[in-house]
Amino acid sequence: MTTPPAPVPSRVLVLNSGSSSVKYQLLDMGDGARLAVGLVERIGERTSRLVHTPGDGGEPRERTEPIADHEAALKAVAEELAADGLGLDSPELAAIGHRVVHGGLKFTAPTVVDDEVLAEIERLVPVAPLHNPANVVGIRTARALRPDLPQVAVFDTAFHTTMPESAARYAIDVETADAHRIRRYGFHGTSHAYVSRETAKLLGKDPAEVNVIVLHLGNGASASAVAGGRCVDTSMGLTPLEGLVMGTRSGDVDPAVTFHLKRVAGMSTDEIDVLLNKKSGLVGLCGDNDMREIRRRIDEGDERARLAFEIYVHRLKKYIGAYYAVLGRVDAVAFTAGVGENAAFVREAAIAGLEELGLVVDGELNAERSSRARIVSPVYARVAVAVVPTDEELEIARQTFDLVSANSLA
Ligand code: AMP
Repeated sequence: MTTPPAPVPSRVLVLNSGSSSVKYQLLDMGDGARLAVGLVERIGERTSRLVHTPGDGGEPRERTEPIADHEAALKAVAEELAADGLGLDSPELAAIGHRVVHGGLKFTAPTVVDDEVLAEIERLVPVAPLHNPANVVGIRTARALRPDLPQVAVFDTAFHTTMPESAARYAIDVETADAHRIRRYGFHGTSHAYVSRETAKLLGKDPAEVNVIVLHLGNGASASAVAGGRCVDTSMGLTPLEGLVMGTRSGDVDPAVTFHLKRVAGMSTDEIDVLLNKKSGLVGLCGDNDMREIRRRIDEGDERARLAFEIYVHRLKKYIGAYYAVLGRVDAVAFTAGVGENAAFVREAAIAGLEELGLVVDGELNAERSSRARIVSPVYARVAVAVVPTDEELEIARQTFDLVSANSLA
């Protein structure tokens, strides 16, 4: 009797650890199956909740019990996976891929985590105080649970490290900037990378041949200019506050607004931080950050909601124009994330009036609801307008799997 061959590890667990939440997905890179999707939220509170959905569209299971910290959260996730025969001890698990928000200048590609890499991610906490600490805790906890398994960090900033200095530097004193690592890093990189590549696929072209403007419009929002598969500019900067109008973030403001608020309004640095990051953007302008609600209010004649929408669209148009000029030639403008994928009226308003740039949307194609990547401009349009659903978890899993496969062949 011969023993069956050991299964080749082809599964990747993707972890996205936030300050009080952990999102996760288990993907099989062999057949592309999504084996589990879940979320633990309100970690550290009495009302913590874990929602675990097995397979593609399986029946969700919910646990409501106090989950004290990230270690307890990951243990609960491991239990849910084990209940479906997909435990962390499975020999089919190839690696764990971690979303890490800030990789600074050092991490330009996905990286297998060792003690030194973890220490460097911690050294970046001052430039990403809201995100990197939770990412570090997530990696530490996962390493403790499976010390033998490769843990891979996939950085939100990595895709933007190809930006030329002319786009990445602020025009401030060079010594001061360098001493404090102040420059434009950009975020949402995993999404911009995935969407620009999928847009090239949609056009039937190699990513190296096409120039794309990617508009990632979720609650956080950013634009990027991608030339031949490489990012040459992006709208977020040192932190995710710069650029487009977002759900609760202001995006671009004159930096003098901050010292004015300090000197004239007597606000503290922390208060200004909260104002610009949490109480501005659409919420600050009209009290709502959900585009569906804003649309409903506009339809009822609400002037504040209409003005908030106009400011949002005006900023978006400015970035489309700026990145058109940066790229010189544009093959496609791709909309993605919650607003970009679902709000046809935002796409229509952002592209309206740009016919001279070769940009037009087809009303019918644009209004169609679909979860597939698609082109919504008419066939005669010089520049394609595309809607490309983003999939950051798949991109993290792909990058993680490619890295561990390459390492095991080496
Ligand atoms: P995300 O951060 O990518 O999950 O996007 C979340 C945002 O997408 C929400 O705050 C809404 O503004 C927006 N959104 C989600 N679904 C729709 C929809 N059907 N129509 C318009 N906006 C939507």
